[in-house]
Amino acid sequence: MVNRICISINNRCNLACKYCHFHEKGNIEAADMDVFEILDNVKRYAGPKFKIGFVGNGECFLDWPLLRAYIAYIEDYTNISAYTITNGTIDLPEEEWRFLEDHKINVGFSIDGYKELHNMNRCGSFDKAMATVEHYKEVTGHYPTFNATVGKDSLANSQKVIDFFKSFGTRVTFSRMIGRYGITLQEYRDFLAKAELEIPVRRGGQDCTMYGGQCGSGINNYFFANGKVYYCGNCIDLPPIGHSSIPFEELEKTRLEFDRNYCYKETICG
Ligand code: SF4
Ligand code: SF4
Repeated sequence: MVNRICISINNRCNLACKYCHFHEKGNIEAADMDVFEILDNVKRYAGPKFKIGFVGNGECFLDWPLLRAYIAYIEDYTNISAYTITNGTIDLPEEEWRFLEDHKINVGFSIDGYKELHNMNRCGSFDKAMATVEHYKEVTGHYPTFNATVGKDSLANSQKVIDFFKSFGTRVTFSRMIGRYGITLQEYRDFLAKAELEIPVRRGGQDCTMYGGQCGSGINNYFFANGKVYYCGNCIDLPPIGHSSIPFEELEKTRLEFDRNYCYKETICG
């Protein structure tokens, strides 16, 4: 049974991070997608727990009115929870942060660690992003969770990265940098083992090896973008499974068999 999906609500971003794999896959054509139709399918299909990540090929907060409308559209469905991830460069007015908090939307901020490290990969956006983090904390009373990409520089300065996140006391989802600047799965797993001795680290279940779990491709977890549905965000340069309007009962039939300790995409593409 499918119980989590990610929806890429747009294909635009105001940053051009060095390692962004969506930018590396620049040949993917952007197309319109009816997100309300996907949400209707979720409402019809969802079991007792269904999670939607409003995350994808761009910065969601650039299209905040749309994101807000999608969240409002599912607000009566207590079995459907949602989260989003932002690069932190777009601060929202106080009432909008409250809206997210009142709707129990987890907001993850993409911060790679201390200032120099973050700025090296993420277009010098550290000060702006951290100012937004502080505003979020001021409004909600707590720090957000963080999403940090782990590359070679993070490995070389691992204790400094861990110390940076320790001060916030919230959960960190470390993801493995892939592509041109990537690190190996083993290097990443060693980093996670060290980090979780000192800070709350998210370990995905059947989710994605990039987030410390097992690969969930073709089991319970799908990615909607560009009017299509894919096995995951990293698979958008593979043939899509179908149109974004596909009923979830059809998605259930697309199960893949492979060793889930490894990334499906890397297994088939090297
Ligand atoms: S903020 Fe995210 S989507 Fe935008 S360039 Fe950076 S990694 Fe890519
Ligand atoms: S194919 Fe790779 S990137 Fe995609 S969910 Fe599986 S482990 Fe993650």
